[in-house]
Amino acid sequence: MFDSDDLSAVDFRAISDEGLIDALRTAHGAAAAAQAAEVFAVRELYRRYRADSADPGPGGARGGEFAATEAAVALQVDEATTGALIDIGLALEDSLPRTRAAFAAGRIDLAKVRVIVDNTRAVAREVLEDLEPRLLEVAGRTNPVRLRQAARRWAARLDPGGTRQRRERRQEERDVRLRAVQDSMAVFDGLLPAPGAQTVAMRLREMSMQVCASDPRTMPQRRADALVALADGSGQLRCQCGRGGRCPKYGVPIEQPRRPLIQIGIPADSLLGFQDAPAFLAGYGPIDAALARLLAEHARFQVIPEQSDADDPATAEEAAQWQPASRLEREVRALDGMCRFPGCAMPAAESELDHNHPFDHERPARGGPTARTNLAVLCGRHHRLKTLADNDKLPWKVWRADLERLQWTAPTGDIHTTVREGARYLFPRTDTGAPTVPYTGVHRSEPPEAPPIDAPTALPDRRTAEDMAYPLNGYVVIHGQLRRIPPEDEIPDDKPAPTRNHAP
Ligand SMILES: [Zn+2]
Ligand SMILES: [Zn+2]
Repeated sequence: MFDSDDLSAVDFRAISDEGLIDALRTAHGAAAAAQAAEVFAVRELYRRYRADSADPGPGGARGGEFAATEAAVALQVDEATTGALIDIGLALEDSLPRTRAAFAAGRIDLAKVRVIVDNTRAVAREVLEDLEPRLLEVAGRTNPVRLRQAARRWAARLDPGGTRQRRERRQEERDVRLRAVQDSMAVFDGLLPAPGAQTVAMRLREMSMQVCASDPRTMPQRRADALVALADGSGQLRCQCGRGGRCPKYGVPIEQPRRPLIQIGIPADSLLGFQDAPAFLAGYGPIDAALARLLAEHARFQVIPEQSDADDPATAEEAAQWQPASRLEREVRALDGMCRFPGCAMPAAESELDHNHPFDHERPARGGPTARTNLAVLCGRHHRLKTLADNDKLPWKVWRADLERLQWTAPTGDIHTTVREGARYLFPRTDTGAPTVPYTGVHRSEPPEAPPIDAPTALPDRRTAEDMAYPLNGYVVIHGQLRRIPPEDEIPDDKPAPTRNHAP
């Protein structure tokens, strides 16, 4: 037997096959126990923060909601992941004491704990008394998929009323999400009540028939194009058969697509084809220059000049106005590219501008100026965090170290720095952290081998808790206060009138 403390010192080449299997089991148990400790620690952090903000009053922090934020920044995972960990911790404590103990001892891992939590939510307490030990017994001898099947079957048999309740609760989990994958593609998926899902499917099918039989696209390709056509306002597929007037669908009027619904940052020399530096698709991440040039055919352009600290073009008059001039706002959004909170990936276009040093509405000369050196992009959730901190309602501190760096001090004193991501794309030579491979301009005749389409990327995931270390993709939190944690789920307040210390 291996002691989990010794695993790092083991020479795996020197032990028997049986010894390796034994080591695997010991290591897996140790990893599970360590994840249990993570769950209990973040849940305790949440409990303390919630106790501190039991009665926040108007404009205060809702109970404990930023515990997940602080934990996410510390672990460098997304907030949906830490929010899910808190939710699991609450469920274990509230109703699953045996599961909690088995997890703490490393006898079951986070994936199985998640299955048990997911499947016992609406189960009556008396039923749970019988069900929980049985599930733990199954968990000890099978994998999470089989455990899920057993859990569903038994929960349905023992507690049919609970099953109905779970179905009704499922409706509250309806959602549509996006997930970035490799090669400038993204997975678009969602959970809808069956009638609504069927409505969408039938509409896409109907639209797929709007082109003539010679259209070269497959039905799956047409359905995919139809979904985008629904969203861009054209509402209809244009036939691609290329037969002109001989196409039976020729001349069918099609609405112009609405633009722009997406934003792309690309260096001027790559746009013109002299270089192939990656472009930045807001909300997704890097896309290749060729795709960006293709999209640019119908684009509206904004030119963002590269500037240094010294040449901030804001006039004194502009600096003394709360609302930035549109040129300034455009530049800040393009250069920041996304929310400047550590780890947040909300696109600039869906975010707000914040005065790092708050604007003083009564005496503008004394507050922070409306200038490039004092403005940054923050999504609604992190703008709220920043405003609460500015007003001493949250113990975060934010300051601008220079034009480039925004520093965030967490309540525990940890300092995190974020930089202008958009500028990394627009001005590639400012991407100083990138490995330096000289651009050779060699044309590659063979396409590189395509990685599997669902290979996870290094991009932060925007719509779901997904992290290689945490099997929580699609986890739905049940505790109300945790539900708004992912930044994209923040519901914007109706715009308040500007008040002192409330930056735009
Ligand atoms: Zn046609
Ligand atoms: Zn954010």
